[in-house]
Amino acid sequence: MSGFRNVRLRLRKTGSGLATHLITRYAGRMNDKPDAENPNDCIIPPELPKTELRNLVSEQSEHEVREIVDYIEWQCNKKREHELEETGTTELAEEIVQHAEKIKTERVMGTDYSVWDVHTNLNRWWVITNPTNLYSQILMPSLDYTLSFHIGLMARVQARREIAGGDEVFDFLSITQRKIYQAQLAFDEADEIEDFQGIGLQCREAMTSFTREVVAAGLFDDLGEPPKKGDFIAWSDHVIGARAAGGAAEYVRGYLKAICQKGWQLANWLTHAKNATRSDAALCLSATEHLVHELITLALKSKARSPEKCGRCSSFKINVTWRPDEEEYVASCEMCGAEGRWPPSSVASEA
Ligand SMILES: [Zn+2]
Repeated sequence: MSGFRNVRLRLRKTGSGLATHLITRYAGRMNDKPDAENPNDCIIPPELPKTELRNLVSEQSEHEVREIVDYIEWQCNKKREHELEETGTTELAEEIVQHAEKIKTERVMGTDYSVWDVHTNLNRWWVITNPTNLYSQILMPSLDYTLSFHIGLMARVQARREIAGGDEVFDFLSITQRKIYQAQLAFDEADEIEDFQGIGLQCREAMTSFTREVVAAGLFDDLGEPPKKGDFIAWSDHVIGARAAGGAAEYVRGYLKAICQKGWQLANWLTHAKNATRSDAALCLSATEHLVHELITLALKSKARSPEKCGRCSSFKINVTWRPDEEEYVASCEMCGAEGRWPPSSVASEA
């Protein structure tokens, strides 16, 4: 052991000795003004203006940058805007983005997280997507640590939400979301058969309110005359058949139809089951969450009308962005830049 200790000590000594040597040797030559008498003098170039940096960054979509800039400026100036609205005056300085650069995209458990380095006139931020959140680089200097923190935080938020999609989904699925949430709370409290049966009833209600809410949101307006919303199995059969059509989707379609049919039957059985147990209620609840999640994912895919892959270069790296100036959604290929666009009003009817 003592031998190792000696080796480490020796190495450290050599290292610091070398560094000191280099610093003393070159310190005199490091300055920001050229020495006319010495043609080999080394010049440290001045810092580039932040506004110039964007012209030197290649391969990033200006629309993606615009979304990040809008997000940061909205987040950072909320308090200032509020004061201006309330009192007409504010002491707070406006925070303006000077440079935004995508550092990397990392896939963790099937979800892509893009990390942006954003400089403003007042601060420097990490912005991480899916869903988007910002972190001060002063408080969190390590990017890797911040990404781990973000993924953990989002997993906890997601665990309470359970349904796919962003805030727009919660707007039109608010009743379904509430019913599932109440079923989760009821499950935590459930001790007796009547309580377990009650979970079955709540799950069934979540499924019927789901069909009502997605139909009301116009997500399946193009499907002609689907069966009555009250007949969950026939209704889900119909929409899955239309949205996951074709030979390539045979197994996906079969699976989705099966989980809807079996999930509905399970909830119905549980509602009246004389021998219902806690694990039956747990199974019914997770089946309901799962099938609602899968159906909304299917519905949203067609709502965004984003192709799975690029028609030109076959890449799967497709980004969908909303362009407020043009009032359109645009799906663009990250690899070759090909674009497809459509206005929001046509989403439901043309999907
Ligand atoms: Zn492409």
